[in-house]
Amino acid sequence: MGFIVGLTGGIGSGKTAASDHFATLGIDVVDADIIARQVVEPGTEALSRIVEHFGKDILQADGTLDRAALRQRVFSQPDEKRWLEQLLHPLIGDATLHALAATKSPYALFVSPLLFESGMQAICNRTLLIDAPEQAQLERTMVRDNNPAGQVKAIMASQTSRETRQAKADDVICNDGSLQDLHHKVEAMHARYLTLAGAS
Ligand code: ATP
Repeated sequence: MGFIVGLTGGIGSGKTAASDHFATLGIDVVDADIIARQVVEPGTEALSRIVEHFGKDILQADGTLDRAALRQRVFSQPDEKRWLEQLLHPLIGDATLHALAATKSPYALFVSPLLFESGMQAICNRTLLIDAPEQAQLERTMVRDNNPAGQVKAIMASQTSRETRQAKADDVICNDGSLQDLHHKVEAMHARYLTLAGAS
């Protein structure tokens, strides 16, 4: 396994904007959200187990997992949540390692909103937090998703705090300016990671 940088941040902090720019600089990106979806695609063993456990109602008309319904079912049901996590976490872990092993760039970027919460920072040589002031997170997410402020604030309140993430991350990019500012900060971090990856 080569050098791995784990990238994380709260809702609307700019993870995608930042990782897209790393990708344009030639860095292979592995996205935890995409992998989490792939392990429960139609035809997978995991999806069969979920349907066995929760019933057919957990599927949408097209046979794909109704993720919102599943979230509802495990929300405030610790036993169900644990069951689901015990099923999915090892599968997601394996698929992530597999995807990272297939990367070819001087270092690989692993993007995960739950990098610290999932323990996946353990597979990273370095962790990078995309950090934005709460007001910016709120406004950008409202515009992007066309969601009311209350809903975005509730999600922000349920997530790990900025302070906790700041304390855990090796590196922090403060996304408090324009997209162009963010790109410049990503480029500076990219130069550091090339050096670190070369030395390791
Ligand atoms: P989520 O966790 O919700 O998926 P995210 O961390 O991936 O969010 P992005 O989707 O990258 O966040 O950013 C949220 C929105 O804010 C997007 O529409 C993005 O284009 C915009 N955005 C990000 N950074 C900036 C910036 N510095 N200036 C202006 N807009 C920005």
